[in-house]
Amino acid sequence: MREIWKHIEPEHLFFCYECSRCTGSCPAAMVLDTPGPRRILVSCLYSGPNAVTGDESLWYCTTCHVCEDRCPQELHIVELLTALMNVAAARGNIPDKVRAVVDKIARTGRSVVTYRVDEERIRFGLSPLSQINVEEVEALAARTGLFEKVKSRP
Ligand code: SF4
Ligand code: SF4
Repeated sequence: MREIWKHIEPEHLFFCYECSRCTGSCPAAMVLDTPGPRRILVSCLYSGPNAVTGDESLWYCTTCHVCEDRCPQELHIVELLTALMNVAAARGNIPDKVRAVVDKIARTGRSVVTYRVDEERIRFGLSPLSQINVEEVEALAARTGLFEKVKSRP
């Protein structure tokens, strides 16, 4: 548990009264098989981070912050989820899908393939998306140790 509390203050999380408004508003929980922010928070508080850091669905969070906006207790749910992902990553619990996205960012500077976007932009008379300087992305990743943490590159 201490690993998590290095990143965030735990006390206020105990003000959660389990109304589920966060999960009811979560776009990830609407379309994916995930317990949602309320269950992750409650599992972490009462069973410890080990109960959730091995769960791939933890990574479905898009950090959109809607759960925080809707929480009547103004809990910092995204801080908790981010801290849990950091702990999971430090333990090597990074889903292959996340590694693949990091690899794509490393190679192209983008997290998704955009050729269809460019096709649509041309159709509407817009210029293609600008090229991304991958060397800058690589420099940032090197400085943060991202590739080493994810080990997604040969
Ligand atoms: S909205 Fe806030 S108080 Fe309600 S369950 Fe979610 S974290 Fe707890
Ligand atoms: S920040 Fe994450 S957990 Fe919160 S609503 Fe967005 S996707 Fe769901």
